[in-house]
Amino acid sequence: MRRMPGVLIVEDEPAIAELISVNLKHSGFRPVWAMDGATAQAELDDVLPDVILLDWMLPGESGLMLAKRWRAHPRTKSVPIIMLTARGDEVDRVAGLDAGADDYMAKPFSTKELLARIRAVLRRRAPEQDASVVTIGDLSLDPSTYRVTYRAEPLKLGPTEFKLLHYLMTHAERVHSRSQLLSSVYVRLWVWRDKWWIPCVVLVIG
Ligand code: CA
Repeated sequence: MRRMPGVLIVEDEPAIAELISVNLKHSGFRPVWAMDGATAQAELDDVLPDVILLDWMLPGESGLMLAKRWRAHPRTKSVPIIMLTARGDEVDRVAGLDAGADDYMAKPFSTKELLARIRAVLRRRAPEQDASVVTIGDLSLDPSTYRVTYRAEPLKLGPTEFKLLHYLMTHAERVHSRSQLLSSVYVRLWVWRDKWWIPCVVLVIG
């Protein structure tokens, strides 16, 4: 079962956001709408989308500033950004791309073309994505967001449980020894204490 790609729409005009959202849902995407930068930031802190559609003119921080900030941040730097804006001049398109946008669409735009462009940016980052999201049946695990869902319901797992589940899902239908599991989840070290080398384990998170 393939996970529906998430699209964060950062757009202050509800009619445009609604139009994009309806078209995305029809095409198998999972849209989330944020009407300004602060709301979008809260969404990104929670779950990373597969693509961000970013309007330039927003209340508060502009789309251009947001693109620059998200590109500079380790958590968001590899999420593709498509800028949507009424500012279609060459100088603006160049500024948008220089800020870190992967693509640029001037309003008014065709929703068909927008969907094609979203699919294109997803194809460009597909190898990275395939390596990160693991889905078996109704269970889905995304290491980039530390999110695990079963039948679309989020599960709460501790770091060790997450690591162990990731190992088992990426090495399915095999028997694993205790030491294999431990070495996949822990790094074992020897430490010198009171004239003895003692084995210890260090938890690897991420
Ligand atoms: Ca706007």
